[in-house]
Amino acid sequence: MTGAIFGETGKVTEGLYHVDLNQYGMKRLCSAFVLKTSKCLLILDTGTSDDVRALVRFIKRNGWDPANITFIVPTHFHFDHFGGGWKLWKKIMKFNPSVKILTTRETMEHLQDASLHLKRARRTFGDFVGEMIPLPENAYEIVETDTPLDIPGLEDGESFSLVSTPGHVPDHVCPTMNRNGENVFCFTGEAAGTLFHSRKLVTFGTSMPPDFTFKEYMESLEKIIALEPTNAGYCHFGTVMGKENVTKVLEENRQFSIFFKDYVKREFEKSGSVRTVVEKFAAEEAPGRTDLPRADLLVNILVALVYGQLVDLGLKQPK
Ligand SMILES: [Zn+2]
Repeated sequence: MTGAIFGETGKVTEGLYHVDLNQYGMKRLCSAFVLKTSKCLLILDTGTSDDVRALVRFIKRNGWDPANITFIVPTHFHFDHFGGGWKLWKKIMKFNPSVKILTTRETMEHLQDASLHLKRARRTFGDFVGEMIPLPENAYEIVETDTPLDIPGLEDGESFSLVSTPGHVPDHVCPTMNRNGENVFCFTGEAAGTLFHSRKLVTFGTSMPPDFTFKEYMESLEKIIALEPTNAGYCHFGTVMGKENVTKVLEENRQFSIFFKDYVKREFEKSGSVRTVVEKFAAEEAPGRTDLPRADLLVNILVALVYGQLVDLGLKQPK
C-alpha cells in the first residue's frame, strides 16, 4: 500500500501542498493544506494558535510572498483545525490588508464566540488548545456552500467550492477543487474519518460530543463518495492519492462507522461503562488501525469518540 498515503510536508501534486503542523510537538497528528493558483495562495485550515508558526515557516521556506495569501479557509470551527485562523489572519494582514477568512456564516459565528468550545476542550486537552480571539467582521468573506467561488488565478475549467458536509459538526465543509469535471482534491476534513496509519487505508471515526450525528455524518460521507475525488485530504492525517485508493478508504470509513456505532451500543449496553467500552476497543480493534508511535494518546480520543456516539444514541447526556 506504500505510495497511497502522502504524509510529508511538501508538494502533493500540481498546485497542492500538505503541511504537518507538528501539533502538540507530534508528527502525523494534524494537517493543513495550501492550494496555489497562478495568482494566489489559499490556506486550508491552520491548526491551533500555537501551530500557526509551522504554517508561516512553510510559506517562508517555499519563498512564497505572504501578500499572495488571499484566503484562509476553515473546514470547521474546532480549535485543533481553525483555532489559529485569527492569528494567521493578523499576521498576513500586515502584508495583504485585503486577506479574508473565506467561510460560511455558521462557521464565522462559532469562531467569533468560541468560549464554550474552548472551555470544553480545555477539560480534555488542557492548555494545548491555545487561544481563539474574535476578529473584526471585515476579516470574513461569507459565502454559500456547494457553489463555485470566485478565486483569483483559477484556470479555465477549474472551480473551487465548499461542499457542505455536516455530521462531525453542523458547520463542517469540505474545500474542494475541480478541474475539467474531475474532483482533483477534496479536503475531507473530519467528514470521512481520520487516518492514523502511514501505509494502510484504515480509519477511525470523528464522533466527538456534543455535536456528532450519525445520520448526517453518513449522508455527508455518501456525498463525498459520489464526488469520486482523485485526492482526499484528511485533518488527521495526510492525503490519500489516486481515485482507486480514495474510493477504498472512503468505503472503509463507511463500514467502520457502522461497525463502531453498533460496537459502542452493544458493549455499553453490556457494561454500562464508557471506560470499559474504550478499553475493550483499544485492546481489540485499535492496534490494527494505527502505526502512530504514541498510540496510547489515541485512548483520549477514543473516550471522546465513544462518548459522542452514546450522546447521539441517546444513551448519555452531553457534558
Ligand atoms: Zn473537529
